[in-house]
Amino acid sequence: MAAVSISFEFFPPKTDEQHATLEAALPKLKALAPEYVSCTFGAGGSTLSYTPETIRHLREEHGLDAAPHLSCMGGTREEIGALLERYKAMGCRRIVALRGDLPSGMASYGDFRYASDLVEFIRREHDGSFHIEVACYPEVHPQSDDAHADLRHFKTKVDAGANGAITQYFYNADAYFRFVEAARRAGVTIPIVPGIMPIANFSQLKRFSDLCGAEIPRWLAKRLHAHGDDVDAIREFAADVVAALCDRLVTGGAPGLHFYTLNRSRPTLAVIERLGKAA
Ligand code: FAD
Repeated sequence: MAAVSISFEFFPPKTDEQHATLEAALPKLKALAPEYVSCTFGAGGSTLSYTPETIRHLREEHGLDAAPHLSCMGGTREEIGALLERYKAMGCRRIVALRGDLPSGMASYGDFRYASDLVEFIRREHDGSFHIEVACYPEVHPQSDDAHADLRHFKTKVDAGANGAITQYFYNADAYFRFVEAARRAGVTIPIVPGIMPIANFSQLKRFSDLCGAEIPRWLAKRLHAHGDDVDAIREFAADVVAALCDRLVTGGAPGLHFYTLNRSRPTLAVIERLGKAA
């Protein structure tokens, strides 16, 4: 497999146990020399203090180029502006700009309706300070029933000033290649990096996928399900499948791989180890 840049995504730990899990994973993932790592942000400010603290920790105590996610839904211009200033002061130069999803019980969208509004705001108010990554959806965003409209909205977000895009995870390489092809035809020239979800636990994966609209192919679900509680067999099989997906993506021209680690090293390492052997 051709060498490509890799990046790792974490979520901000809240409990002692979650802190310990992330701390245990970091040395092993750091050893793979990621180009950068990122940390998610709960829309509506549900991780308002945790995300900046995790970013500080990753940057200062682990020496990682850590990029915060920033979801605008439910936030005001002032709040988002203050966060951007805080990140700038920490030395952050890359932001993953998102709309987020309205948390249950929250009625107001806040000052920004879509991620494109946030990208435009960052460009207008902080021009030049940040490299902006945005999200995109090879299998179409779950709230969009029109793939063409979804692509047009992606293009609007890119035209507002995004420098790169990371996809939602998927297990069908053709969905990625077709999406990139359509984006290029629409005039999108920025790198589109596939988001990769290593598989550790089928029921958790199914729950996530139902929420975010990622499709688990029937054959894959059936094969994972057939392993029952045999955790080792699931791990081996899943790592083979995800490594084969990554290999196909990179061979087909994907410019990098962004791993959704869920703060654990083992499932991601199992995939990357196999890719190393395929190189
Ligand atoms: P948008 O680009 O605003 O799109 C959202 C929907 O609105 C789409 O259906 C789009 O077609 C539609 N749309 C866009 N513009 C218009 C318009 N002008 N008119 C009509 N419709 C429009 N969520 C979090 O809360 N925190 C995170 O840290 C986080 N990290 C993520 C990282 C990645 C790489 C990805 C892929 C997703 C992440 N998410 C995160 C989830 C994301 O917030 C949700 O998928 C959310 O529903 C959409 O966010 P977006 O930035 O893609 O939104």
